[in-house]
Amino acid sequence: MPHQPLIVSGVEVTPLCDAVGPMGASILRPMAEMFPGADLPEEPWTLHFHCFLIRDPADRLTLVDTGIGAAGSPASSWAPVPGSLTGELAAVGVSPADVGTVILTHLHSDHASGAVGDDGTPVFADARHVLQRADLDVAGGQVLDQVITPLKDLLHVVDGDAEVAPGVRVHLTPGHTPGHQIARVGEVAMTGDLVLHPAQLADPAVRYVYDDDQEQAAATRARVLDGLRADRAVLATAHFADPFVRL
Ligand SMILES: [Zn+2]
Ligand SMILES: [Zn+2]
Repeated sequence: MPHQPLIVSGVEVTPLCDAVGPMGASILRPMAEMFPGADLPEEPWTLHFHCFLIRDPADRLTLVDTGIGAAGSPASSWAPVPGSLTGELAAVGVSPADVGTVILTHLHSDHASGAVGDDGTPVFADARHVLQRADLDVAGGQVLDQVITPLKDLLHVVDGDAEVAPGVRVHLTPGHTPGHQIARVGEVAMTGDLVLHPAQLADPAVRYVYDDDQEQAAATRARVLDGLRADRAVLATAHFADPFVRL
């Protein structure tokens, strides 16, 4: 079921809960190993997988991230597939054809795979798909073959910060991946994998083992969280159990 929406300045942000579960056997590790240095229990980590639907006052729809996708998606080796994104959208009365813009925070398989259906065609066929050049440049493997290639005519590639739909901006936040980006609408920041666990809000220096560049990710996390705190922003997180966190 979708989590409760947040409405700010006439813009509605709805967390869509694509899946809930631990990582699969191939990369399952206790939390204490995933976040070295944080005081976390030696138990498996249960993640939520959130996408966010933004509805602006003119009823334009922007989707941030597309989740883990179908049973055979690139996320299927480790994530609890299939994702339920289209069911979550239906639960709030939205059909994929209604979505005008899709923002991919980064090209990890649990954020991008739901953009393509199990028939290999784009799910959001009328949407521009916004991603950063620096992530596209390093795309490879199953995500390139099964996600990016089918989307090639729908891609909207940006370099750095940009307004990608009226009132919706993306900001380049490298480290987790080279072209990781967050999305902002009003006071809400959809943070992708800038933070993976609440322990990183208390201490942004806590590393995450699957950050591509852990040093850069920690520096970016500290800088961006400082800025969001100064803005008194609300974080909309991909993997926390409670999707919204007011800083
Ligand atoms: Zn959830
Ligand atoms: Zn990621």
